[in-house]
Amino acid sequence: MAEEVTLDKIVSLCKRRGFIFPSSEIYGGLNGAYDYGPLGVNLKNNIRDFWWREMTQIHDDIVGIDASILMNSQVWKASGHVSNFTDPMVDCKVCHARFRADQIDLNGACPNCGNKGSFTAPRNFNLMFVTHIGPTADDASTVYLRPETAQGIYVNFKNIVTSARMKVPFGIAQVGKSFRNEITTKNFIFRSCEFEQMEMQWFCKPGSDDTWFPYWREQRMAFYGKMGIRLDHLRWHQHGPDELAFYAKDAYDIQYLFPMGWQELEGVHDRTDYDLTQHQKFSGKDMSYMDPVNNEKFIPYIVETSAGLTRNVLMALCDAYEEQQLEDDTRVVLHLHPAIAPIKAAVLPLLKKDGLAEYASKLEHDLRHYFVTDYDVSGAIGRRYRRQDEVGTPYCITVDYDTLKDNTVTIRYRDSMEQKRIKIEDIPAEVAKADKEYKRV
Ligand code: ATP
Repeated sequence: MAEEVTLDKIVSLCKRRGFIFPSSEIYGGLNGAYDYGPLGVNLKNNIRDFWWREMTQIHDDIVGIDASILMNSQVWKASGHVSNFTDPMVDCKVCHARFRADQIDLNGACPNCGNKGSFTAPRNFNLMFVTHIGPTADDASTVYLRPETAQGIYVNFKNIVTSARMKVPFGIAQVGKSFRNEITTKNFIFRSCEFEQMEMQWFCKPGSDDTWFPYWREQRMAFYGKMGIRLDHLRWHQHGPDELAFYAKDAYDIQYLFPMGWQELEGVHDRTDYDLTQHQKFSGKDMSYMDPVNNEKFIPYIVETSAGLTRNVLMALCDAYEEQQLEDDTRVVLHLHPAIAPIKAAVLPLLKKDGLAEYASKLEHDLRHYFVTDYDVSGAIGRRYRRQDEVGTPYCITVDYDTLKDNTVTIRYRDSMEQKRIKIEDIPAEVAKADKEYKRV
Protein backbone atom coordinates (compact mmCIF):
# COMPACT_ATOMS: atom_id res chain seq x y z
CA MET A 1 0.00 0.00 0.00
CA ALA A 2 1.50 3.35 -1.02
CA GLU A 3 2.07 5.90 1.74
CA GLU A 4 -0.03 9.07 1.67
CA VAL A 5 1.59 12.14 0.22
CA THR A 6 1.70 14.95 2.75
CA LEU A 7 2.74 18.54 2.30
CA ASP A 8 5.56 17.98 4.82
CA LYS A 9 7.03 15.27 2.61
CA ILE A 10 6.92 17.57 -0.42
CA VAL A 11 8.48 20.46 1.50
CA SER A 12 11.25 18.23 2.75
CA LEU A 13 11.97 16.75 -0.70
CA CYS A 14 12.03 20.26 -2.18
CA LYS A 15 14.57 21.42 0.40
CA ARG A 16 16.71 18.26 0.30
CA ARG A 17 16.97 18.05 -3.47
CA GLY A 18 17.09 21.72 -4.31
CA PHE A 19 13.67 22.37 -5.78
CA ILE A 20 12.50 25.16 -3.49
CA PHE A 21 13.97 27.01 -0.50
CA PRO A 22 12.47 29.63 1.82
CA SER A 23 13.52 33.10 0.64
CA SER A 24 16.44 34.73 2.50
CA GLU A 25 16.61 31.66 4.68
CA ILE A 26 19.83 32.56 6.50
CA TYR A 27 17.96 35.57 7.94
CA GLY A 28 15.01 33.50 9.08
CA GLY A 29 13.11 33.65 5.79
CA LEU A 30 10.30 35.94 4.67
CA ASN A 31 6.64 35.03 4.93
CA GLY A 32 5.15 34.03 1.59
CA ALA A 33 8.37 34.23 -0.45
CA TYR A 34 10.34 31.32 -1.90
CA ASP A 35 13.42 30.69 -4.02
CA TYR A 36 13.56 28.07 -6.73
CA GLY A 37 16.73 25.99 -6.78
CA PRO A 38 18.33 24.26 -9.79
CA LEU A 39 15.69 21.51 -10.12
CA GLY A 40 12.79 23.78 -9.13
CA VAL A 41 13.57 26.37 -11.76
CA ASN A 42 13.77 23.66 -14.44
CA LEU A 43 10.41 22.25 -13.36
CA LYS A 44 8.80 25.69 -13.24
CA ASN A 45 10.22 26.71 -16.61
CA ASN A 46 9.15 23.41 -18.16
CA ILE A 47 5.56 23.84 -16.95
CA ARG A 48 5.61 27.42 -18.22
CA ASP A 49 6.95 26.32 -21.62
CA PHE A 50 4.47 23.46 -21.83
CA TRP A 51 1.62 25.93 -21.20
CA TRP A 52 3.07 28.52 -23.56
CA ARG A 53 3.44 25.99 -26.37
CA GLU A 54 -0.10 24.72 -25.80
CA MET A 55 -1.62 28.20 -25.75
CA THR A 56 0.35 30.11 -28.36
CA GLN A 57 1.59 27.40 -30.71
CA ILE A 58 -1.05 24.67 -30.70
CA HIS A 59 -4.11 26.90 -30.58
CA ASP A 60 -5.12 29.21 -33.39
CA ASP A 61 -5.04 32.95 -32.95
CA ILE A 62 -3.27 33.44 -29.64
CA VAL A 63 -0.31 35.78 -29.37
CA GLY A 64 1.94 36.44 -26.41
CA ILE A 65 2.97 39.58 -24.56
CA ASP A 66 5.15 40.43 -21.60
CA ALA A 67 3.80 43.52 -19.87
CA SER A 68 5.63 45.34 -17.10
CA ILE A 69 4.85 44.66 -13.46
CA LEU A 70 4.57 48.36 -12.61
CA MET A 71 1.69 50.09 -14.38
CA ASN A 72 -0.02 53.44 -14.27
CA SER A 73 -2.10 53.50 -11.05
CA GLN A 74 -5.20 54.40 -13.02
CA VAL A 75 -5.22 50.81 -14.30
CA TRP A 76 -5.97 49.54 -10.79
CA LYS A 77 -8.63 52.18 -10.22
CA ALA A 78 -10.33 51.19 -13.47
CA SER A 79 -10.09 47.47 -12.72
CA GLY A 80 -11.64 47.94 -9.29
CA HIS A 81 -8.59 46.66 -7.41
CA VAL A 82 -7.97 49.92 -5.51
CA SER A 83 -11.44 49.90 -4.00
CA ASN A 84 -12.38 46.22 -4.03
CA PHE A 85 -9.35 43.94 -4.00
CA THR A 86 -9.73 43.19 -0.33
CA ASP A 87 -10.07 40.21 1.92
CA PRO A 88 -11.96 40.34 5.22
CA MET A 89 -9.41 40.01 8.01
CA VAL A 90 -9.85 39.09 11.68
CA ASP A 91 -7.37 38.92 14.56
CA CYS A 92 -7.48 36.50 17.46
CA LYS A 93 -7.78 38.75 20.53
CA VAL A 94 -5.77 36.29 22.61
CA CYS A 95 -2.73 35.36 20.48
CA HIS A 96 -3.04 38.15 17.83
CA ALA A 97 -2.75 35.66 14.96
CA ARG A 98 -4.39 36.97 11.79
CA PHE A 99 -6.81 35.08 9.57
CA ARG A 100 -8.99 35.52 6.53
CA ALA A 101 -12.51 35.71 7.93
CA ASP A 102 -13.87 33.61 5.06
CA GLN A 103 -11.42 30.79 5.75
CA ILE A 104 -12.20 30.04 9.40
CA ASP A 105 -15.25 29.44 11.59
CA LEU A 106 -15.66 32.77 13.40
CA ASN A 107 -17.65 31.08 16.17
CA GLY A 108 -15.10 28.29 16.51
CA ALA A 109 -11.69 28.06 18.13
CA CYS A 110 -8.64 29.99 17.01
CA PRO A 111 -6.58 27.65 14.71
CA ASN A 112 -3.44 29.04 16.34
CA CYS A 113 -4.10 29.10 20.11
CA GLY A 114 -7.36 27.16 20.46
CA ASN A 115 -9.29 29.89 22.33
CA LYS A 116 -12.94 30.05 21.38
CA GLY A 117 -14.92 33.03 20.09
CA SER A 118 -12.05 35.44 20.47
CA PHE A 119 -11.96 37.11 17.05
CA THR A 120 -12.17 40.83 16.29
CA ALA A 121 -14.89 42.00 13.89
CA PRO A 122 -13.85 41.44 10.24
CA ARG A 123 -12.31 44.47 8.48
CA ASN A 124 -11.33 44.79 4.86
CA PHE A 125 -7.68 44.64 3.95
CA ASN A 126 -6.38 45.58 0.48
CA LEU A 127 -4.05 42.93 -0.89
CA MET A 128 -2.04 45.15 -3.22
CA PHE A 129 1.57 46.01 -2.37
CA VAL A 130 2.09 49.75 -2.65
CA THR A 131 5.34 51.43 -3.58
CA HIS A 132 6.41 54.77 -5.06
CA ILE A 133 8.05 55.72 -8.28
CA GLY A 134 10.59 58.54 -8.18
CA PRO A 135 12.19 60.24 -5.17
CA THR A 136 9.05 61.46 -3.36
CA ALA A 137 6.66 59.16 -1.61
CA ASP A 138 3.30 60.88 -2.08
CA ASP A 139 -0.08 60.06 -3.61
CA ALA A 140 1.02 61.19 -7.06
CA SER A 141 3.95 58.77 -7.08
CA THR A 142 1.99 55.74 -5.82
CA VAL A 143 2.35 52.60 -7.89
CA TYR A 144 1.29 49.05 -7.16
CA LEU A 145 2.99 45.74 -7.71
CA ARG A 146 0.49 44.07 -10.03
CA PRO A 147 -1.78 41.60 -8.21
CA GLU A 148 -2.62 39.83 -11.49
CA THR A 149 -1.15 39.75 -14.97
CA ALA A 150 -4.50 40.15 -16.74
CA GLN A 151 -4.65 43.96 -16.71
CA GLY A 152 -1.40 44.15 -18.71
CA ILE A 153 -3.24 42.20 -21.40
CA TYR A 154 -6.45 44.27 -21.34
CA VAL A 155 -4.69 47.62 -21.67
CA ASN A 156 -2.73 46.30 -24.67
CA PHE A 157 -5.83 45.06 -26.50
CA LYS A 158 -5.80 47.87 -29.10
CA ASN A 159 -2.02 47.68 -29.56
CA ILE A 160 -2.30 44.01 -30.46
CA VAL A 161 -5.28 44.48 -32.78
CA THR A 162 -3.46 47.12 -34.79
CA SER A 163 0.14 45.88 -34.68
CA ALA A 164 -0.41 42.12 -34.95
CA ARG A 165 -3.51 42.58 -37.13
CA MET A 166 -5.50 40.18 -34.97
CA LYS A 167 -9.18 39.68 -35.70
CA VAL A 168 -11.72 38.95 -32.98
CA PRO A 169 -11.97 36.20 -31.74
CA PHE A 170 -8.37 35.97 -30.61
CA GLY A 171 -6.38 35.54 -27.43
CA ILE A 172 -3.42 37.14 -25.68
CA ALA A 173 -1.25 34.98 -23.43
CA GLN A 174 1.13 36.10 -20.72
CA VAL A 175 3.21 34.52 -17.97
CA GLY A 176 4.63 36.61 -15.19
CA LYS A 177 4.97 37.56 -11.57
CA SER A 178 2.09 38.80 -9.47
CA PHE A 179 2.10 40.04 -5.91
CA ARG A 180 -0.53 39.86 -3.18
CA ASN A 181 -0.16 40.82 0.44
CA GLU A 182 -1.91 37.62 1.53
CA ILE A 183 -3.18 37.54 5.11
CA THR A 184 -2.39 33.87 5.56
CA THR A 185 0.39 32.30 3.54
CA LYS A 186 0.34 28.74 4.83
CA ASN A 187 0.65 25.59 2.71
CA PHE A 188 4.11 26.24 1.28
CA ILE A 189 4.03 27.77 -2.23
CA PHE A 190 0.26 27.20 -2.58
CA ARG A 191 -0.47 30.74 -1.45
CA SER A 192 2.51 33.08 -1.47
CA CYS A 193 2.91 36.85 -1.62
CA GLU A 194 5.05 36.71 -4.75
CA PHE A 195 3.93 34.13 -7.31
CA GLU A 196 3.61 33.57 -11.04
CA GLN A 197 0.52 33.34 -13.20
CA MET A 198 -0.13 31.97 -16.67
CA GLU A 199 -3.06 33.79 -18.17
CA MET A 200 -4.78 33.73 -21.52
CA GLN A 201 -7.51 36.28 -22.17
CA TRP A 202 -9.79 35.42 -25.10
CA PHE A 203 -11.52 38.36 -26.81
CA CYS A 204 -14.76 37.46 -28.54
CA LYS A 205 -17.97 38.92 -29.85
CA PRO A 206 -20.74 39.39 -27.24
CA GLY A 207 -22.99 36.34 -27.45
CA SER A 208 -20.23 34.08 -28.85
CA ASP A 209 -18.95 33.71 -25.27
CA ASP A 210 -21.73 31.12 -24.87
CA THR A 211 -19.69 28.93 -27.24
CA TRP A 212 -16.17 29.98 -26.22
CA PHE A 213 -16.67 29.65 -22.48
CA PRO A 214 -17.43 25.90 -22.57
CA TYR A 215 -14.75 25.48 -25.26
CA TRP A 216 -12.05 26.95 -23.04
CA ARG A 217 -13.23 25.03 -20.00
CA GLU A 218 -12.88 21.82 -21.96
CA GLN A 219 -9.47 22.82 -23.36
CA ARG A 220 -8.06 23.78 -20.00
CA MET A 221 -9.06 20.55 -18.29
CA ALA A 222 -7.65 18.54 -21.22
CA PHE A 223 -4.38 20.45 -20.83
CA TYR A 224 -3.77 18.93 -17.39
CA GLY A 225 -4.31 15.46 -18.81
CA LYS A 226 -1.65 16.22 -21.43
CA MET A 227 0.66 17.36 -18.63
CA GLY A 228 0.31 13.91 -17.08
CA ILE A 229 -1.86 14.94 -14.13
CA ARG A 230 -4.31 12.32 -12.83
CA LEU A 231 -7.73 13.51 -13.98
CA ASP A 232 -9.48 11.93 -11.00
CA HIS A 233 -7.59 14.44 -8.86
CA LEU A 234 -9.11 17.37 -10.76
CA ARG A 235 -12.66 18.68 -10.68
CA TRP A 236 -14.75 21.69 -11.58
CA HIS A 237 -16.17 24.11 -9.08
CA GLN A 238 -18.78 26.56 -10.37
CA HIS A 239 -18.90 29.88 -8.55
CA GLY A 240 -22.11 30.25 -6.56
CA PRO A 241 -23.97 33.58 -6.34
CA ASP A 242 -21.91 34.57 -3.27
CA GLU A 243 -18.58 34.01 -5.09
CA LEU A 244 -19.39 35.31 -8.58
CA ALA A 245 -17.93 38.76 -9.30
CA PHE A 246 -20.77 41.21 -10.00
CA TYR A 247 -19.69 41.68 -13.63
CA ALA A 248 -19.04 37.98 -14.39
CA LYS A 249 -21.61 36.02 -16.34
CA ASP A 250 -20.32 32.65 -15.17
CA ALA A 251 -17.16 31.36 -13.53
CA TYR A 252 -15.62 27.97 -12.90
CA ASP A 253 -12.46 26.97 -11.08
CA ILE A 254 -10.41 23.89 -11.77
CA GLN A 255 -9.64 22.40 -8.37
CA TYR A 256 -6.95 19.87 -7.55
CA LEU A 257 -7.02 17.40 -4.67
CA PHE A 258 -3.99 18.73 -2.77
CA PRO A 259 -2.84 16.97 0.44
CA MET A 260 -4.81 19.65 2.33
CA GLY A 261 -7.99 19.03 0.29
CA TRP A 262 -9.63 20.32 -2.88
CA GLN A 263 -8.24 23.76 -3.75
CA GLU A 264 -8.30 26.11 -6.72
CA LEU A 265 -5.65 25.67 -9.39
CA GLU A 266 -7.03 27.77 -12.22
CA GLY A 267 -10.00 30.00 -12.91
CA VAL A 268 -11.95 30.02 -16.19
CA HIS A 269 -14.25 33.02 -16.15
CA ASP A 270 -16.68 34.73 -18.50
CA ARG A 271 -15.88 38.36 -17.65
CA THR A 272 -18.26 39.96 -20.19
CA ASP A 273 -17.22 43.39 -21.53
CA TYR A 274 -16.50 44.68 -18.03
CA ASP A 275 -12.70 45.04 -18.34
CA LEU A 276 -12.54 46.88 -21.64
CA THR A 277 -15.55 49.03 -20.73
CA GLN A 278 -13.85 50.08 -17.49
CA HIS A 279 -10.60 50.93 -19.29
CA GLN A 280 -12.53 52.89 -21.91
CA LYS A 281 -14.24 54.84 -19.15
CA PHE A 282 -11.10 55.61 -17.14
CA SER A 283 -8.67 56.22 -20.02
CA GLY A 284 -11.08 58.02 -22.33
CA LYS A 285 -9.74 55.85 -25.19
CA ASP A 286 -12.00 53.89 -27.48
CA MET A 287 -11.58 50.21 -26.60
CA SER A 288 -14.15 48.93 -29.07
CA TYR A 289 -13.46 46.67 -32.04
CA MET A 290 -14.73 47.15 -35.58
CA ASP A 291 -15.58 43.92 -37.38
CA PRO A 292 -13.92 44.34 -40.83
CA VAL A 293 -16.53 42.13 -42.51
CA ASN A 294 -19.68 44.06 -41.62
CA ASN A 295 -18.30 47.18 -39.89
CA GLU A 296 -20.12 46.24 -36.72
CA LYS A 297 -18.61 47.94 -33.66
CA PHE A 298 -18.61 46.34 -30.23
CA ILE A 299 -16.65 46.02 -27.02
CA PRO A 300 -15.43 42.40 -26.93
CA TYR A 301 -16.35 39.98 -24.19
CA ILE A 302 -13.46 38.30 -22.42
CA VAL A 303 -13.18 34.65 -21.45
CA GLU A 304 -10.20 34.35 -19.18
CA THR A 305 -8.14 31.32 -18.26
CA SER A 306 -6.00 32.18 -15.26
CA ALA A 307 -3.68 29.56 -13.79
CA GLY A 308 -1.08 29.83 -11.07
CA LEU A 309 2.33 28.73 -12.37
CA THR A 310 3.88 28.34 -8.93
CA ARG A 311 0.68 26.63 -7.73
CA ASN A 312 1.04 24.30 -10.74
CA VAL A 313 4.55 23.44 -9.56
CA LEU A 314 3.15 22.37 -6.20
CA MET A 315 0.34 20.46 -7.88
CA ALA A 316 2.74 18.65 -10.23
CA LEU A 317 4.96 17.63 -7.31
CA CYS A 318 2.02 16.42 -5.18
CA ASP A 319 0.52 14.54 -8.10
CA ALA A 320 3.81 12.89 -9.04
CA TYR A 321 4.98 11.88 -5.57
CA GLU A 322 4.87 8.23 -4.63
CA GLU A 323 6.57 6.12 -1.99
CA GLN A 324 6.71 2.68 -3.53
CA GLN A 325 7.25 -0.52 -1.61
CA LEU A 326 9.47 -2.75 -3.72
CA GLU A 327 10.33 -6.35 -2.86
CA ASP A 328 13.52 -5.53 -1.04
CA ASP A 329 13.43 -1.77 -0.87
CA THR A 330 11.26 1.33 -0.86
CA ARG A 331 11.72 4.13 -3.31
CA VAL A 332 10.45 7.68 -3.58
CA VAL A 333 9.56 8.34 -7.18
CA LEU A 334 8.20 11.43 -8.90
CA HIS A 335 6.03 10.35 -11.82
CA LEU A 336 6.51 13.68 -13.60
CA HIS A 337 5.57 13.82 -17.26
CA PRO A 338 8.86 13.76 -19.24
CA ALA A 339 7.94 17.11 -20.78
CA ILE A 340 8.18 18.83 -17.39
CA ALA A 341 10.76 16.68 -15.58
CA PRO A 342 13.72 18.87 -14.49
CA ILE A 343 16.25 16.37 -15.87
CA LYS A 344 15.38 14.28 -18.89
CA ALA A 345 18.13 11.68 -18.73
CA ALA A 346 20.97 10.78 -16.40
CA VAL A 347 24.10 9.12 -17.75
CA LEU A 348 25.65 6.73 -15.24
CA PRO A 349 28.89 4.80 -15.66
CA LEU A 350 28.55 1.43 -13.95
CA LEU A 351 31.97 1.96 -12.37
CA LYS A 352 34.42 4.82 -12.27
CA LYS A 353 37.34 2.79 -13.59
CA ASP A 354 38.49 1.15 -16.84
CA GLY A 355 37.48 4.07 -19.02
CA LEU A 356 33.74 3.76 -18.21
CA ALA A 357 33.58 7.20 -16.56
CA GLU A 358 35.33 8.90 -19.49
CA TYR A 359 33.03 7.21 -22.00
CA ALA A 360 29.92 8.13 -20.01
CA SER A 361 31.03 11.72 -19.53
CA LYS A 362 31.60 12.17 -23.26
CA LEU A 363 28.20 10.59 -24.01
CA GLU A 364 26.54 12.92 -21.52
CA HIS A 365 28.16 15.93 -23.20
CA ASP A 366 26.93 14.76 -26.60
CA LEU A 367 23.37 14.26 -25.33
CA ARG A 368 23.24 17.81 -23.91
CA HIS A 369 22.45 18.96 -27.43
CA TYR A 370 19.16 17.07 -27.31
CA PHE A 371 17.87 17.47 -23.76
CA VAL A 372 18.74 18.29 -20.15
CA THR A 373 21.11 15.69 -18.78
CA ASP A 374 22.79 14.79 -15.52
CA TYR A 375 25.93 12.82 -14.88
CA ASP A 376 26.40 10.85 -11.68
CA VAL A 377 29.30 8.61 -10.84
CA SER A 378 29.13 8.42 -7.05
CA GLY A 379 27.78 5.42 -5.14
CA ALA A 380 26.29 2.09 -6.08
CA ILE A 381 24.26 2.08 -9.29
CA GLY A 382 21.04 1.20 -7.39
CA ARG A 383 21.49 4.25 -5.16
CA ARG A 384 22.04 6.44 -8.21
CA TYR A 385 18.82 5.15 -9.79
CA ARG A 386 16.97 6.03 -6.57
CA ARG A 387 18.42 9.54 -6.57
CA GLN A 388 17.13 10.08 -10.11
CA ASP A 389 13.73 8.50 -9.32
CA GLU A 390 13.29 10.92 -6.43
CA VAL A 391 13.61 13.96 -8.70
CA GLY A 392 11.55 12.47 -11.52
CA THR A 393 14.24 11.79 -14.14
CA PRO A 394 12.40 9.59 -16.65
CA TYR A 395 15.44 7.87 -18.21
CA CYS A 396 18.74 6.56 -16.85
CA ILE A 397 21.38 5.54 -19.34
CA THR A 398 24.01 3.19 -17.99
CA VAL A 399 27.42 2.69 -19.52
CA ASP A 400 28.99 -0.72 -18.76
CA TYR A 401 31.77 -2.95 -20.10
CA ASP A 402 29.71 -4.07 -23.10
CA THR A 403 29.33 -0.42 -24.07
CA LEU A 404 33.07 -0.20 -24.63
CA LYS A 405 32.88 -3.17 -26.98
CA ASP A 406 29.73 -2.48 -29.01
CA ASN A 407 28.57 1.10 -28.24
CA THR A 408 25.29 -0.04 -26.68
CA VAL A 409 23.88 1.19 -23.37
CA THR A 410 21.11 0.22 -20.99
CA ILE A 411 18.18 2.62 -20.87
CA ARG A 412 16.08 2.33 -17.71
CA TYR A 413 12.56 3.71 -17.48
CA ARG A 414 11.69 5.44 -14.21
CA ASP A 415 8.08 4.29 -13.74
CA SER A 416 8.36 0.64 -14.79
CA MET A 417 12.05 0.28 -13.87
CA GLU A 418 12.32 -1.82 -17.03
CA GLN A 419 15.60 -1.77 -18.89
CA LYS A 420 16.54 -2.37 -22.46
CA ARG A 421 19.66 -2.33 -24.56
CA ILE A 422 19.97 0.24 -27.31
CA LYS A 423 22.71 1.68 -29.53
CA ILE A 424 24.06 5.02 -28.40
CA GLU A 425 23.10 6.67 -31.69
CA ASP A 426 19.47 5.62 -31.07
CA ILE A 427 19.22 7.34 -27.65
CA PRO A 428 17.70 10.66 -28.84
CA ALA A 429 15.07 8.88 -30.97
CA GLU A 430 14.26 6.39 -28.20
CA VAL A 431 13.82 9.21 -25.68
CA ALA A 432 11.64 11.20 -28.08
CA LYS A 433 9.47 8.12 -28.70
CA ALA A 434 9.13 7.28 -25.01
CA ASP A 435 8.26 10.95 -24.26
CA LYS A 436 5.49 10.84 -26.83
CA GLU A 437 4.07 7.54 -25.61
CA TYR A 438 4.28 8.45 -21.92
CA LYS A 439 1.27 7.46 -19.81
CA ARG A 440 0.97 8.30 -16.13
CA VAL A 441 0.87 5.08 -14.09
P1 ATP B 1 -8.13 33.05 -3.68
O1 ATP B 1 -9.61 33.33 -3.63
O2 ATP B 1 -7.75 31.63 -3.34
O3 ATP B 1 -7.30 34.04 -2.96
P2 ATP B 1 -8.34 33.95 -6.33
O4 ATP B 1 -9.63 33.28 -6.68
O5 ATP B 1 -8.33 35.38 -5.97
O6 ATP B 1 -7.64 33.13 -5.19
P3 ATP B 1 -7.41 34.41 -8.93
O7 ATP B 1 -7.37 35.86 -8.74
O8 ATP B 1 -8.54 33.80 -9.71
O9 ATP B 1 -7.32 33.69 -7.49
O10 ATP B 1 -6.00 33.95 -9.50
C1 ATP B 1 -5.87 33.01 -10.53
C2 ATP B 1 -4.88 31.93 -10.13
O11 ATP B 1 -3.67 32.50 -9.64
C3 ATP B 1 -5.37 31.03 -9.00
O12 ATP B 1 -6.18 29.98 -9.50
C4 ATP B 1 -4.09 30.53 -8.42
O13 ATP B 1 -3.62 29.39 -9.15
C5 ATP B 1 -3.12 31.67 -8.63
N1 ATP B 1 -2.96 32.43 -7.39
C6 ATP B 1 -3.75 33.42 -6.91
N2 ATP B 1 -3.28 33.89 -5.74
C7 ATP B 1 -2.15 33.19 -5.49
C8 ATP B 1 -1.18 33.22 -4.43
N3 ATP B 1 -1.29 34.07 -3.42
N4 ATP B 1 -0.14 32.35 -4.48
C9 ATP B 1 -0.01 31.49 -5.50
N5 ATP B 1 -0.89 31.42 -6.52
C10 ATP B 1 -1.93 32.26 -6.53
